[in-house]
Amino acid sequence: MSTTTAAEKLLLQMVDDYTQKEIAPQDMPMDAAGDFPAGFMEKLTATGFLGLMLPQEFGGAGFGPEITATVLNHIARGNASTAVTLEGHFKTIDQLLKYGTPALQQQLLPTATDRIFAFSMTEASGGSNPMSISSTATREGNHWVLNGDKIMITNGGLAEVYCVLVKTAPTELSVFVVDQDMPGFSFGKREDFIGLRGTPVGEIVMDHIVVDDDHLLGNLGDGGLIGDSAHDDARVLMGAVLTGIMEHELKIATDYAKERKAGDQPLTALQVTQRKVADMAIRKETTKLLYQQAAHLKALGQPYSELAAMAKAHGSRAAVSAGDDALQILAGYGYSREYPVEHLIRDARALEIAEGTVEKMRSAIALAEFNH
Ligand SMILES: Cc1cc2nc3c(=O)[nH]c(=O)nc-3n(C[C@H](O)[C@H](O)[C@H](O)COP(=O)(O)OP(=O)(O)OC[C@H]3O[C@@H](n4cnc5c(N)ncnc54)[C@H](O)[C@@H]3O)c2cc1C
Repeated sequence: MSTTTAAEKLLLQMVDDYTQKEIAPQDMPMDAAGDFPAGFMEKLTATGFLGLMLPQEFGGAGFGPEITATVLNHIARGNASTAVTLEGHFKTIDQLLKYGTPALQQQLLPTATDRIFAFSMTEASGGSNPMSISSTATREGNHWVLNGDKIMITNGGLAEVYCVLVKTAPTELSVFVVDQDMPGFSFGKREDFIGLRGTPVGEIVMDHIVVDDDHLLGNLGDGGLIGDSAHDDARVLMGAVLTGIMEHELKIATDYAKERKAGDQPLTALQVTQRKVADMAIRKETTKLLYQQAAHLKALGQPYSELAAMAKAHGSRAAVSAGDDALQILAGYGYSREYPVEHLIRDARALEIAEGTVEKMRSAIALAEFNH
């Protein structure tokens, strides 16, 4: 891993202070309300979080993949929904940087410091098998006309700019970029998901949206490649978020175990408690190593897809299991909605599904191993 620079240390200090003061206190209210509180996203935006990894030429802070992931790790210690909203934004910016034309980048990226971006693939026909989508872009004169319906989109309804996976021929997938201001764009249903309840996840509807050629990412037929790339970038960050969830779970469990008595000794003296805490710590550290190594390879320009899939496949079950151990240490209180453990399990569970299910990721990891 790279050593942390002075600017990165300062950034992490600012992030930790902000998380402690502004984000963590909203963790429980957000879960109960199923939304970010009023003014929360506006304040996060005004503080500069949206431009963290955006290159300086577009007005961002230009931080690299490793520190960006670490920032999301630290934010998730206070609240995972906030970190996941930033993850959805950052992975979309990454695709514009990799595949957008210079004209599209100049038009959209300077706005990414105060407008949220999102990446939309899933449709009612299923998220795991992209060829089954029905959204289309058809050629009309010098333009493309987009029609279709995307569901379960992270930041759907909150984001203003959307990358959308469509068919440009019966077996050809491509990605276009649309703006919520375009005629024909509207929002549909917001999901009532059981976890990550601050993050809006919703539907977008494209009804005859007309775009120019420069709103195509990459080339026609690059949809599968760009979708995979978005997943890779998301999974690095999700490994970081999952590490943060486990750090939160560990803190609750260890704080409680130090206070709670079993007869005349604290829970910390019991081997059964020690075993649970040790397992939680091992799961947290293995996930951290995986996401940090994936981010490091990304920073070096080396392949990171397999490690990113491992970070999320391992980290998501690890965080659910660590939450379960924390719940058992707190016992009756762990099972109560008055304590955050039960919602941390629900938050972690989402990441066994979002950005590719763990089944799909295990297939990708196995294929990579067969090809080594
Ligand atoms: C919190 C959250 C945020 C999300 N954010 C986004 C987003 O920003 N953008 C977006 O486009 N989507 C998003 N999604 C949707 C998500 O990507 C899909 O739910 C996911 O890809 C699975 O699709 P599905 O739900 O239709 O299940 P299906 O694809 O119908 O899968 C059903 C089951 O079959 C298994 N399965 C299906 N096909 C295969 C296969 N080929 N190999 C192995 N197993 C398979 C799956 O693993 C699963 O267990 C989000 C979902 C959640 C929960």
